[in-house]
Amino acid sequence: MSTTPTPGPPTPPTPPTPPRPPHVELLIGYANSIDHELATDDLTTPAELDAWLTEHGLGAGAMRATADDLAVARRLREALQAAFTANHEGTGDFTALDAVAERLPLRLGGRDVPGDSPQPGLVPVLDGVPGALTRLLVAVNAAVVDGTWRRVKLCAADDCGWAYFDASKNRSRTWCEWGCGNKAKTRSYRARRKAAGMSGPA
Ligand SMILES: [Zn+2]
Repeated sequence: MSTTPTPGPPTPPTPPTPPRPPHVELLIGYANSIDHELATDDLTTPAELDAWLTEHGLGAGAMRATADDLAVARRLREALQAAFTANHEGTGDFTALDAVAERLPLRLGGRDVPGDSPQPGLVPVLDGVPGALTRLLVAVNAAVVDGTWRRVKLCAADDCGWAYFDASKNRSRTWCEWGCGNKAKTRSYRARRKAAGMSGPA
């Protein structure tokens, strides 16, 4: 019995690449204020925290972070990284983020709408540094609302931990943009050859 190849179903049109909105940019920038590969950290003193928040447009007026603010800021960063890892793994776990949110309360406030009356939106309850940090939770909510949240991930390479935006069609990207994927592929290729008892160029 001969088989005739039949044409498959028509390929659906590729959906447009989702844009990377400013609130996602902000979250990625915050998570990446520590760089494990280069061993640098932009949030080691209260003054550095003030500078980061001001540079990224989160601080309103003069801020004076305390040691406690810095501890909350670092906890928030770790919680975001944990959530981005959960996005990578597909578990969606955000318990660490929820725990730190106790220190960063939100309420519904009036939000300006150009050419229209204000409408309700999430705003920080607190002023100063805690209020500025709370704006990162507002950014989390904005990413959930516009459907980009699950695309914010943490690079799967052990020594990297870099946050990145996965713009791939199926949200299937695993590595950041710094060549970690290539490094990992080389490692797994070597491991497979070793397991198979093969020698040769590694
Ligand atoms: Zn990486």
